[in-house]
Parts: sequence; structure tokens; C-alpha cells
Amino acid sequence: MVEKTEHSMRAKRSLGQNFLVDGNYVSKIVNAVHPETDEVVIEIGPGRGALTRELLDRGANVLAIELDRELVPQLRDDHSGTGRFIVVEADASEADIRELLDQFYPETPKAKLVANLPYYISTAILQHLANERHCLSELVLMFQREVVERITARPGSSERGYLTVLVEAAFAVERLFDVPPEAFRPRPKIWSSVVRLIPKPPSPADDPAFRRLVSSGFSQKRKTLANNLKAGYPEPNIALAHAGIDPKRRAETLELSEWLRLYALLAERTKP
Ligand code: SAM
Repeated sequence: MVEKTEHSMRAKRSLGQNFLVDGNYVSKIVNAVHPETDEVVIEIGPGRGALTRELLDRGANVLAIELDRELVPQLRDDHSGTGRFIVVEADASEADIRELLDQFYPETPKAKLVANLPYYISTAILQHLANERHCLSELVLMFQREVVERITARPGSSERGYLTVLVEAAFAVERLFDVPPEAFRPRPKIWSSVVRLIPKPPSPADDPAFRRLVSSGFSQKRKTLANNLKAGYPEPNIALAHAGIDPKRRAETLELSEWLRLYALLAERTKP
């Protein structure tokens, strides 16, 4: 499905293209990134370049990753003249960020990252960015508000799920501000929210086995933790008891530290 915006650029809904057109919000997002002169900022999904332009105006080097090949030539035409703009055509949920930095900015061990992310790819991108976070110093991301509510949900909230725990394990999260539908063309039906993520150091939560545990804990949200874990772990009640977690609790009530405790005990019990 495509829709013409007032700038007669075709917006592809399949790629979540809602372009930011309100300059106040462009400034607010770029203020949150606060790029220093010559600093490298990775931008996922530059689209028509609203954020890109402002980042470049403030002296940043922008390394952009855009999936839509039809947008790439225009982005190059508009911004390559600055000498501080590179765009690669790639899927950001798979792009190797370390490799891109090594290729284009070998002197830069860590870069900032900014993105206005489409809903369809939010979980995949967040999961990928959690894996790639060691070459990122700070991320400023815009999502649909419901995604931000999910990733910031505290223990006990029904919004809390696999994505919340995954993000909490990888990043310190700060919710910044909301953005209304009027700020975009085409106009989405829902509000968006901007968050700042600060990468945490490597931890046992990076182990795929930790993610498997959390995923199985949340597999059926209405069931108790013990019931959900039964499918993948022999006698989960023993590990739950050792971790001091009531087996009747639901996954959404657990804090990150409890997941980590449970993971450590299960890993210990299943060691070859
Ligand atoms: N940053 C622009 C703005 O704020 O106006 C565009 C934001 S628009 C919501 C999302 C952008 O991400 C689009 O340009 C879209 O083509 C791009 N995109 C969608 N999926 C992507 C992916 N997997 N990898 C990289 N870019 C993607």
C-alpha cells in the first residue's frame, strides 16, 4: 500500500514510512542526541532526511542505514555535498554495526544512534541493537507509544513482557517525550514516544539461554511461571524455590534480578 504525501513522495506503509514533518520535534530529538562537532551518529531509516539534515547542520557525521532503495539516491543527492554523510542500503535489523564503523570510521570505537522506528520492526531491531550495543554509546529512539510503554513497564504491570526484560537487561532506559500523530506525514493513528537507551556492560543476560528462559516464562501470559517453564525445564519448581520465587507467580511480576537468579540456577542444574 502506498500513499502520496504532500511532498509527492510515495510513502510505503509496508516499511512503516511516517515521515517527521514538524520541525519542533525534529529539534527536540536532535537535542536529545546532542551531537558534538564531527561526532559520528548512526541513523536508522533516514527516510526523507528530516533528522539527517538537522544532525548534519549541527556538525555531526551521519552514517545512515536505509532499507528503501528508492530513497537512497535522493538522500545522497541532498546530503553527500556536506562530506559528512554516508548512506548504506541495508536492513538495520541485520546490519553489522561494528563492521560498518570499522569500514567508514575506523577511529570511532563507539557511536551514538538515532532512529524513528517503524512498528513492524521494533522488536527485531531492539533485539539486534541489544546484541550490537557494545559499539554504541547512547541511543535515542522513537517508537509507537505502546512499544515504549511495553519496554518501560515495571514488574507487576500487565504490559511487561519478553521485550521489557530483554531491553532492561541491555540498557538503562529513560523515557523522554511523546510525539503526536500531527507531527508526521502520512499521519499515523497513534502517538509516538522517544526514549534514551544507555547500553549496559556485557552480562549473563546476553546468553541466548537467558533469552530462552524469559521467552518461555512469558509463553502464556495467564499461566503461572512454573506452568510455563515446565515445557522447557525439568522440575522448574526446584530452581524457583532455590531462587526464592513463588512458583505461582506470573512472569510479569519478576524483576530483572530475579530472572538472572533463576537463570543462574537453571544453568547450574543443566550443566553437562
Ligand atoms: N527518519 C525519518 C523521519 O523521521 O522522517 C523516517 C522515519 S520512517 C518512520 C521509518 C524509516 O525506516 C523509513 O525511511 C523506512 O524506509 C525505514 N526502514 C524501515 N524498515 C527498515 C529496516 N529494516 N532497516 C532500515 N530502514 C528501515
